[in-house]
Amino acid sequence: MFEVSGLMVFYENMLALNNVSLSCDSDQIVGVFGANSAGKSTLMYTLSGIMEDIRTKEEMAGGERITIRGKIVFRGKDITEMRPSLRAREGIILCPERRRIFPESTVLENLKIGGYLATAGQARETLDYVFTIFSPLERLSKRLGGFLSGGEQQMLAIGRALMAQPKLLLLDEPLLGLSPSIQFLLAKSIKNIRDQRNMSIIVSEQYARPVMPIIDYGYILENGASVVQGTNHELMNNPDVKTAYFGT
Ligand code: ATP
Repeated sequence: MFEVSGLMVFYENMLALNNVSLSCDSDQIVGVFGANSAGKSTLMYTLSGIMEDIRTKEEMAGGERITIRGKIVFRGKDITEMRPSLRAREGIILCPERRRIFPESTVLENLKIGGYLATAGQARETLDYVFTIFSPLERLSKRLGGFLSGGEQQMLAIGRALMAQPKLLLLDEPLLGLSPSIQFLLAKSIKNIRDQRNMSIIVSEQYARPVMPIIDYGYILENGASVVQGTNHELMNNPDVKTAYFGT
């Protein structure tokens, strides 16, 4: 359903993604793990198409030369050069690193902004769903986004992405900076979303521990290259992965 092959991204002459291939089937959760600077955000920006916009903007401003190579196919369609807004219409929705919610808009406004691609009926139904899985958001619906805790902001960021009716949800480091108990709760919610809403999810994380149990398949990125891949059991039992990502 989602096939990425031979993806290369250069920032000037610096190779940030080196021949990355990955796939994600319908209703699968795929994990992408890697240390700081491994290329996780570059990958997520490239899959969502935002890298294409950044590249064009840099080119017009005479700034950094960004080169993207490879092929991205979503539901049988080659979307490699498709603009991010059109990818969103196809159902590829990115929930970016560091949440990027609107701090001066309320929780409800943030969620409604996310619903710009939804019909009124879908927006109502999804809003109910978001308030069910992330129940603190209902109580906080009039609070400004900037006054939420980190965990609440992340719930809001995922909720806003859900409002856009994703078929493929891209979560870039959703657990970053959160306490272990909140990480555990959010990881469980991510799995519930997949189970209840029929969508595929690609989630990137620096630390494998909280996310590994919920993924079906995963990739380890090192210096922009995918060096190990496998099911969650295969990855958890791989001695190199254990040492590097579980500290055992
Ligand atoms: P983090 O966990 O720190 O977000 P990451 O795995 O998401 O890391 P990326 O942000 O994709 O990694 O960065 C991959 C590499 O590309 C890094 O070496 C980074 O410094 C470099 N890089 C990222 N953005 C740019 C840019 N606009 N120009 C030049 N180099 C960049």
